[in-house]
Amino acid sequence: MDDIKALSLETLQNKLVSFGYPGYHARQIFNWIYKKGAVDFAQMSDLAQGLRDKLQENFCISGLEIAGQLKSRDGTKKMLFKLKDSSIVEAVMIPSRDRATGCISTQVGCKFGCRFCASGISGFKRNLTCFEIIEEILALKREALPDNLTHLVFMGTGEPLDNYEEVLKAIKIINSPDGFNIGARRITVSTSGIIPGIQRLAGEGLQIELSVSLHAANDELRSSFMPVNRKYPLKGLISSCKEYSAKTNRQITFEYILIKGLNSDLRSAQDLAKLLGGWRLAKVNLIPSNPIAELKVEAPDRRDILLFKDYLEKRGLNVTLRKGRGEDINAACGQLRLGYEKK
Ligand code: SAH
Ligand code: SF4
Repeated sequence: MDDIKALSLETLQNKLVSFGYPGYHARQIFNWIYKKGAVDFAQMSDLAQGLRDKLQENFCISGLEIAGQLKSRDGTKKMLFKLKDSSIVEAVMIPSRDRATGCISTQVGCKFGCRFCASGISGFKRNLTCFEIIEEILALKREALPDNLTHLVFMGTGEPLDNYEEVLKAIKIINSPDGFNIGARRITVSTSGIIPGIQRLAGEGLQIELSVSLHAANDELRSSFMPVNRKYPLKGLISSCKEYSAKTNRQITFEYILIKGLNSDLRSAQDLAKLLGGWRLAKVNLIPSNPIAELKVEAPDRRDILLFKDYLEKRGLNVTLRKGRGEDINAACGQLRLGYEKK
């Protein structure tokens, strides 16, 4: 039996009509599920009993089993879920003064195997369904910070643009005024650079924020630790990003994890300034690498990080330096799941 959360508003409307009820009840049902967190059709008190029975016969409302929770000293909260097939996925809630950001996973594992990332270590298992993605958000809202989920980032485990259909369905529910009602500009899709996915997203007519995990600005270096670059090298990647920002009028954030001895020297900064210099809508977000013992990666010294940042700023780039969050609970992508699987 399908979980009702796998349905878009439009599909639900059509279903209701096929049951002999007006489609507008779909909005009420969305409100119950996404705004009020209903877990049972019986709670939907403004729907006729007959309709509730019909829903009960045709759909279920299930949840994900919570396999673990961790809270960081800085308030970051991480949740681990066990799916029906026993796969483990993780989601993180990062609160700050006037906002709370949910970071969610889109796949079990990842097939792209970037060398610094814990998510790809045990390979790829499967895509998450729209229902499972939505469930991560509901659980974060329920368990972590009930009323105040203001931003969502697809920066957990997996490559969102490699699971395009289910991610887009989820985005529509997240964005819908009857769903989670989070504005497109507060939803960020992060990609390792899947060009066809970026092009497709540009054509959706949504103003979703795009983050590109760049991490190196010359092809040889990038391919050496991000195999995806061999298929989608920088030239095509940058032109698809320019096309995205032209169509959506959005700034693009280029994530750059600084890894000691790999991509944080002066030459790398020069490559980056050359690649993005003069492009007004490009923003660089520097992220000192989280230490991951299994992968032998760690951040450069503070001095080198600041030199790198300073070099880019002097060349007119718009640069931010991300503060580490949740480091004491291994909040970087894939790290908690990895720890769980090792147990
Ligand atoms: N596959 C997509 C979405 C996942 S986001 C992508 O790669 O963009 C993955 C993010 O996790 C990276 O951009 C980075 O911000 C973070 N991450 C992964 N490994 C990390 C590490 N060792 N240190 C710090 N951040 C890391
Ligand atoms: Fe996959 Fe992104 Fe991690 Fe690369 S950084 S292995 S694409 S999740």
